[in-house]
Amino acid sequence: MAKRGMLIVLSGPSGVGKGTVRKEIFSQPGNNFHYSVSMTTRDMRPGEVDGKDYYFVSKEEFEQQIKDDQMLEYAKYVDNYYGTPLKYVNQMLDSGKDVFLEIEVKGAMQVRKKAPDGLFIFLTPPDLMELRQRIINRGTDDIETINKRMEKAVDEIEMMQNYDYAVVNDVVEEAAEKIKTIIRAERWRVKRF
Ligand code: 5GP
Repeated sequence: MAKRGMLIVLSGPSGVGKGTVRKEIFSQPGNNFHYSVSMTTRDMRPGEVDGKDYYFVSKEEFEQQIKDDQMLEYAKYVDNYYGTPLKYVNQMLDSGKDVFLEIEVKGAMQVRKKAPDGLFIFLTPPDLMELRQRIINRGTDDIETINKRMEKAVDEIEMMQNYDYAVVNDVVEEAAEKIKTIIRAERWRVKRF
């Protein structure tokens, strides 16, 4: 039987740039992680592709997946569901492939309970005002949503202590490089705890 793959979880507040850093990591040659596409009930943003950025589903479909125990984790985030379909993750890990999740903190903590041997990396903003500016610059959220996201971010940053590593997302390429270094080192780790 193949050695089980490594589960890598990249988490941090919304707007910190998890998606950008993840894309940077995946755009580089030689990476052989398998990205787990999440499921969500939120509306598709311009430029997003169903099945690539997310699986976009209705609230009813999502709740059915929860009932059927098909989610590794899920969270309600600013009035929408987000979650990781279990099947793909298990298939990949069982066949020895490394799986990369990019999820918010409540979900990451659920994964931590189920898979304590995973690698949990927290991406943090250089500071909160910059985070607010990044969310505004994205131009996809109204002011009420921006404020809700900011309130969440403050709570989320306190969760950093539950992670194995924290990386500041100042320059995207540098953050991506640091994360790759962490993952590389993790492969050679003798003891986990
Ligand atoms: P957005 O609406 O900006 O795409 O995502 C909102 C938040 O949900 C982000 O912090 C994103 O990382 C997180 N997220 C995306 N997919 C998942 C998932 O499968 N599970 C959880 N718990 N959070 C997710």
